[in-house]
Amino acid sequence: MSVHPLLERRPLSQSSARRDAAHFIDGEFTQGATGMGWDNICPVDGSRIGRVPEGGRAEVDAAVAAAAAALDGPWGRMTVTERTDLLAEVAAGIDRRFDDFLEAECLDTGKPMSLAAHIDIPRGAANFKMFTDVAKTIATECFQMPTPDGAGALNYALRRPRGVIAVISPWNLPLLLMTWKVGPALALGNTVVVKPSEETPLTATLLGEVMNAVGLPRGVYNVVHGLGPQSAGEFLTQHPRVNGITFTGETRTGEAIMRQAAHGIRPVSFELGGKNAALVFADCDLDKAVEGTLRSAFSNCGQVCLGTERVYVERPIFDAFVARLKAGAAALRPGRPEDPATGIGPLISKEHQDKVLAYYARAVEQGATVVMGGGVPPMPDDLANGNWVEPTIWTGLADDADCVTQEIFGPCCHVRPFDTEEEAVRLANATPYGLAAAVWTESLARAHRVAECMEVGICWVNSWFLRDLRTAFGGAKASGIGREGGVHSLEFYTEISNVCVKL
Ligand code: NAD
Repeated sequence: MSVHPLLERRPLSQSSARRDAAHFIDGEFTQGATGMGWDNICPVDGSRIGRVPEGGRAEVDAAVAAAAAALDGPWGRMTVTERTDLLAEVAAGIDRRFDDFLEAECLDTGKPMSLAAHIDIPRGAANFKMFTDVAKTIATECFQMPTPDGAGALNYALRRPRGVIAVISPWNLPLLLMTWKVGPALALGNTVVVKPSEETPLTATLLGEVMNAVGLPRGVYNVVHGLGPQSAGEFLTQHPRVNGITFTGETRTGEAIMRQAAHGIRPVSFELGGKNAALVFADCDLDKAVEGTLRSAFSNCGQVCLGTERVYVERPIFDAFVARLKAGAAALRPGRPEDPATGIGPLISKEHQDKVLAYYARAVEQGATVVMGGGVPPMPDDLANGNWVEPTIWTGLADDADCVTQEIFGPCCHVRPFDTEEEAVRLANATPYGLAAAVWTESLARAHRVAECMEVGICWVNSWFLRDLRTAFGGAKASGIGREGGVHSLEFYTEISNVCVKL
């Protein structure tokens, strides 16, 4: 991987991107009227980045009113071409301010710049580019039907924007996951009110600057910061003028939002948690399987919804696989985002660090063999207040152990041997979740056979996190409701009317 030029720049502590977050309502930045808020803390060293205002009912009301008004304003009257041209400008605007987005994202999350520069920020721009292409090529169905009088009738479908969309987004890939919703929502003519994660407010705020710079009409893109329950998140998802709610986050939070969405029967699109399995067969290319599993278990410090926390390895290669995975994980150096040698960043917060360390302790209590890790790595004084945990590998846990059944969302995985393909499939599917799976085999027949059996929204064969944005994305079982991506996003972000014309 080539070194991004930013990696040779000033340390984050001297960054110009440090600042207070702000709501972005009707084209204006505001601190709101509640006077409430919190300090935004950098996960790398515990330093204060700035202040985040907490929005209340008044801020949510104002943002939703602005979004509703914009539907009737210039935005609602634009042709598809005018609208998508503007969104292509948004993508170009993110590219122009690439460095600012990169700094903001790395400050908020602590993730290595090498990761954010190759994935988070480019995908932020790509989400706008891709959905402008989709919006320009929408076709709708048409059915001719016979009638008793012989004249016939013609049915055709019209698609119109759903209206005001509430976007509730998480902290692990803040810009990427937020624009994954905002891109299609706007391309298809809706307006949005975004409630970013309380942990990562900066890139959503910065995107407001880009929206103004490219001349997006006021009220089309709004941001209200706040917490979830009894705060901006709940107020927004209960708001009667919101026409649809798209949410990425924990399954438990999805349950709460579903209850809130029941007021007024608002549709939801959910991308939720996972407990993803990798199946490594003895006929795999071991180098590729180890490299792919290392990425899927430890990238972004294990805070990737699609990441692997359960690894099932065919017995003949079990010992070799574990030894090589251990060697790879041991080489991941924790450090500052801007340091090119950094292989792993911190967890997002002290609270999450406590949660992950509690799972590390539980694994030992429940009989795990700790192959490596299991604690907090020694860090230099200037990083001692960061939320560091060691990459951790276990073997020997029972299939019903907490660390094998519950989503941890940290840099850890349990590796267990299997003897037959049927057993591997059964183990992989033995979870309430159904987000992703990875299958490692050089047998074409096995690859297709096993992929077909996986109860997941996305199954990778001999790869991981390889994403074509035109494909359907989402989770089966408790990992989601609905699919987004490419034309699949039409399902949630537009409403169909059938017109029946009697001839
Ligand atoms: P979270 O559910 O704690 O929070 C997500 C968002 O929901 C935040 O903005 C939060 O403020 C808001 N929220 C919380 N309670 C709310 C309520 N009652 N009403 C309205 N909003 C509320 O998730 P997180 O910790 O930010 O993210 C990690 C989780 O997200 C993991 O479970 C991970 O698997 C999941 N995730 C899933 C996908 C996917 O595509 N399936 C992608 C990324 C993350």
